[in-house]
Amino acid sequence: MMAGGDEDVLIIDDRDRYARFRLISWWDQRKIARSKVMVVGAGALGNEVLKNLALLGIGHVVLVDYDEVEHSNLTRSMLYRSHDAGRPKAETAAGRVRELNPDVEITWINGDVMKDVGLGWFQDVDLVLGCLDNREARLWVNRQCWKVSIPWVDAAIQELMGVVKIFVPPDSACYECAMTEQDYRLINLKYSCPLLRREDLIEGKTPTTPTISAITAGMQTQEALKLLHGMAVQAGCAIVYNGIANNLYITQLPRKEECLSHHCYRGIQDASFGSRDKAQDLLASVGGGDLLLDRELVISLRCDLCGRSDDVLRPRTDVTMRDGMCPKCQVVMSVEMGHVVSAGSPLAGRRLEELGVPSNDILRIRKGGSTRHVRLTADRPTLKARGEAD
Ligand SMILES: [Zn+2]
Ligand SMILES: [Zn+2]
Repeated sequence: MMAGGDEDVLIIDDRDRYARFRLISWWDQRKIARSKVMVVGAGALGNEVLKNLALLGIGHVVLVDYDEVEHSNLTRSMLYRSHDAGRPKAETAAGRVRELNPDVEITWINGDVMKDVGLGWFQDVDLVLGCLDNREARLWVNRQCWKVSIPWVDAAIQELMGVVKIFVPPDSACYECAMTEQDYRLINLKYSCPLLRREDLIEGKTPTTPTISAITAGMQTQEALKLLHGMAVQAGCAIVYNGIANNLYITQLPRKEECLSHHCYRGIQDASFGSRDKAQDLLASVGGGDLLLDRELVISLRCDLCGRSDDVLRPRTDVTMRDGMCPKCQVVMSVEMGHVVSAGSPLAGRRLEELGVPSNDILRIRKGGSTRHVRLTADRPTLKARGEAD
């Protein structure tokens, strides 16, 4: 139940779920109820963040995770039960968020943030909370947030250590600004020589405790609260907490002007196309040009020994070493990759989804010397927060 005007603030109405929050001088429950927040990852951090967002009464949560609940998650994930094993994390966590607070609208996407979540989802939220366990996905989220100028708060945990980083495009330091050679090396390790994903590398097995995930996700959600209220935050800073020594420090990350993540899209135009439409139809609607794919595409695989040639048409991140082996010769085949789809080319005859473009995406079309940004609106979902009027 919402309180009426500001004059109600000091009346404690015990039927009002948010009565205690309203006693905080700067608190604006209506602002929170109108907020839209994306949470990427429903693991240990994601569970704690989602719990916090549910209790706060956030208007609309968009939750992305591709994983399923496992028994080993149960020590750090308060939203899961043992009978949830094998169910998608995103759907399961969304159900528990609704139980915790029916005021919260939640849209879940059982998919990979890098492959399955169009940039439009990012444009439609107020901020993004990264609850991820790997650098590659963080780098992706960072670039997406910069393109559409949406702040994001990243968190990472290990044993009793937690780090929260606040990024506010376009001017703060970003996640990539602080990446080291070692970080790039670790990301590239996942792609072996012909750049195909190695499926045998274990990720996300970092040892963590429910205590550090609660502490870190608490700090992360608090930064989100400040951003949603328009309060000052330490943009481009990392908050580092060491739970062994109980010390906490804040460090300003360096901003690199030559950083590859700082590309902001200006003047995004709507196009009444969806990911099921053909690339050539979209290109024709803007008078031709080249569609520049954000997800590099494996077009075909060819065996140099026997001459076998397979059409693939899948994003690079989706093709494993096993897919790249010639079944007859047991050697890794040569890879043809691309990210440019020119009007009139055979690739342009494909549907956008076949080219690895997810629904609700924002595409880059290069024509002459300029690049325009076009949002697919035919499959655009409506994200309505509870606090928003119809
Ligand atoms: Zn940067
Ligand atoms: Zn062969």
